[in-house]
Amino acid sequence: MTRLLEEKITALHGAGGQVMEKLIAERILPKFKFRAAGPIGLDHLDDGAVVDLPPGKLVITTDSHVVKPLFFPGGDIGKLAVTGTVNDLVVMGARPVAMTLAVVVEEGFPLSDLERILESAAQVLSKLGLPLVTGDTKVMGKGELDGIVLNTTGIGVAERPISDAGLKEGDWIVVTGPVGDHGMAILCARNELPVESPVGSDVAPLWPALAEAVATGGITAMKDPTRGGLAAALNEMARKSGVGIEVEEEKIPVRPEVRGLCELLGLSPYELACEGRAVLGVREEKLEQVLAALCRHPLTAQAQVIGRTSREYSGKVVLRTAVGGKRFLEMPLGDPVPRIC
Ligand code: MG
Repeated sequence: MTRLLEEKITALHGAGGQVMEKLIAERILPKFKFRAAGPIGLDHLDDGAVVDLPPGKLVITTDSHVVKPLFFPGGDIGKLAVTGTVNDLVVMGARPVAMTLAVVVEEGFPLSDLERILESAAQVLSKLGLPLVTGDTKVMGKGELDGIVLNTTGIGVAERPISDAGLKEGDWIVVTGPVGDHGMAILCARNELPVESPVGSDVAPLWPALAEAVATGGITAMKDPTRGGLAAALNEMARKSGVGIEVEEEKIPVRPEVRGLCELLGLSPYELACEGRAVLGVREEKLEQVLAALCRHPLTAQAQVIGRTSREYSGKVVLRTAVGGKRFLEMPLGDPVPRIC
């Protein structure tokens, strides 16, 4: 009965008139209270934002989020949308400075779910002191969209931007925590899998946890292992950098419950997405300093050196197994779990 009486999104909510104004003024704006980016921000409802930038190189990233289901153990599409974009800035070596958020929502979508999603995005931003500077709301007809899509654009500033193509021979490869949690949490949350996830998603912003490690200047390359997981991230880094990577299977952190369920389902934990981890290439002489910096933050305290780059197998990734065998860790064909972000 309550569901029947529930307020729902209608075409008018995206039609640019009084109904949309009321939605934005009463249900959206009050959630995004942190405003410190510049002279014209979200609350001005102008055609764009004007942002004051600290000195450095501008880093910009954008991402659309279509995760299914919208709410999952450890998070929801709102938390994921802002976190994913923050993390893309961070792995470029940038400090997040401002964010934008576009919402495309289906007619009939419960207003309370929309509010819950936005509240959750706002919480991440407010914890980081990161202002939402501008946004957009559009409504599509019933059946024209699967619920809701969020697009976020992140603006950051880097003293020395870090790319995923900067690995050099002799660099150490570090992963900041256990891999595969997000992919496993989403997989289990899908209706088609009648298993409760043994873990929640690892979705978490990598800033400020990585700030100190970035400041050491010892990181040569960095990537967040999202779609395609660790296997995709390592392969992309090796190929773009023109070096080989050799990793030791025993050193790769995977939670036993994730590994167990992967074995049962015939999946590789190295191909499952993470949303709160980073893969780093680190210069030999800075390794200790970078590891010490990572250990000081709870989110990255379980960081592990998992391998090293080499002149051999240029552009490829080799996995050394516990029993001494070697095999290529291939680039996945695609993520084993679609729509994970
Ligand atoms: Mg990325």
